[in-house]
Amino acid sequence: MTEASKKVEMWFTERQTPHLAISLRVKETLARETTPYQELAIMETYEFGTLLTLDGIVQTTVKDEFIYHEQMTHVPLHTHPEPKTVLVIGGGDGGIVREALKHPSVEKVVLVDIDERVIEACKKHLPTISCALDDPRVEVRIEDGIRFVKEARNAFDVIIIDSTDPVGPAVGLFTADFYRAVLDALTAEGVVVTQTESPLLNPDMVKRVFETFAGIFPIARVYTAEVPTYPGAIWAITLGSKVHDPLELPAERFRDIETKFYTPWVHMRSFALPRFVEELVQEQRPRFGR
Ligand code: SAM
Repeated sequence: MTEASKKVEMWFTERQTPHLAISLRVKETLARETTPYQELAIMETYEFGTLLTLDGIVQTTVKDEFIYHEQMTHVPLHTHPEPKTVLVIGGGDGGIVREALKHPSVEKVVLVDIDERVIEACKKHLPTISCALDDPRVEVRIEDGIRFVKEARNAFDVIIIDSTDPVGPAVGLFTADFYRAVLDALTAEGVVVTQTESPLLNPDMVKRVFETFAGIFPIARVYTAEVPTYPGAIWAITLGSKVHDPLELPAERFRDIETKFYTPWVHMRSFALPRFVEELVQEQRPRFGR
């Protein structure tokens, strides 16, 4: 290799908006294919380890995946007093499944991803994330999550919607119609969360999903996770609950599970919203004093 060729650098760039991009320097491309639903790529990067992208958009990286996956999983699973059945919509990389199985009460996790190729590619190239997909408590279904939820009744204690951005097959996962079906698919004390994009770059989405949840679920809350590779870094997650408020959990509810990001304190402070996010979700504003 000549000195000149050693200097050739390969970079993956996601154009997060027409005027903002994130770039990761790439060591090598491990997989690249056009599936029936999206363009999938897996790359080894220098800074964030293995990276999964769909349609040129970062889905997960080995270095920061724990932040998103733990926040998406442990907040709703602790909100439910004894989650036994968990449904993951999307989430084909397996990160949420891995986290859900850490809760001793969980007996069954159903993962419904529309794209089998995501699951297969993650099993091959992202083993630290997909490692629980072959667990006997896990049922993997390759089908449209919208149709699956519409046919389920009173079946899941927790539903986690870990979708791609609201384009293509994921558009219907951000509608009131779908969230009403989620309400019916949940059991009596059921809890749902959905990833709700960047409050900085997509505030209308956070406001719209929160207001829709507030009209459907007895309790609606928004909380955040700081994900460095997602646009705007602060990510919103919307929670809907039939009975239990994630802000009023008894101390003994928190289970002794192994995590890297989530703790009971992190749980509580993720609902302490920066003012610009709080203003999108008025009803959640905390009241001090009497
Ligand atoms: N954590 C990621 C993020 O927020 O960018 C999402 C990761 S996960 C890989 C997203 C998955 O949603 C993809 O594998 C995609 O195939 C799946 N998906 C999109 N629309 C779907 C639908 N209607 N039903 C089931 N899965 C869907």
